[in-house]
Amino acid sequence: MGQSHSSAPQVVLMGLDSAGKSTLLSRLLTGQVMETSPTIGFNVGTLYLDKKTSLTLWDIGGQKRMRPSWKFFLDDCEALVFVVDSSEPARMPEARKALQKVLGDERLRGIPLMVLANKKDLPHSLTIREVSNQLDLQSYKDRLWEVQACSALKGLGLQQAFVSISKRIKKS
Ligand code: GDP
Repeated sequence: MGQSHSSAPQVVLMGLDSAGKSTLLSRLLTGQVMETSPTIGFNVGTLYLDKKTSLTLWDIGGQKRMRPSWKFFLDDCEALVFVVDSSEPARMPEARKALQKVLGDERLRGIPLMVLANKKDLPHSLTIREVSNQLDLQSYKDRLWEVQACSALKGLGLQQAFVSISKRIKKS
């Protein structure tokens, strides 16, 4: 990982394609140059929450062909952010399986999970309760998890979510 990112806690962003990860990252990091790690080709940027708090965010996608490269990230990962498209209930079972798979990784044992129910600006989007039921979050008893609704497109709910993640990292 690049030297400029070495001090901030590493947060990994995942989710199915089209969940809104790249929109979210560019919304959060507006005005900053987004880097793409030359060796592995993922988007990365540092989010400054206040003078003393920053997080390095890695968008590692969720596509199967990328899975072999996940190992580069998971070792240093201190929180997982899983983004779902809350306007697409039909894809929730797929999202549930993807989440279950990644959380099964030894290296992520015990780290906090933040589920972002994205696209809350769209009509009929699932509530956070529906999202947590669909993803079967109650079954994750050995870690802190939380669901927050957001709109990456409109920039709603993002700051709060990442402040909360940062607090959880500090606690754990
Ligand atoms: P990724 O594949 O997870 O990186 O998803 P993208 O960031 O490319 O987003 C997929 C599509 O969803 C794009 O057309 C975005 O403009 C759209 N999108 C992302 N976030 C939101 C949101 O909060 N609300 C709405 N309405 N559309 C969104």
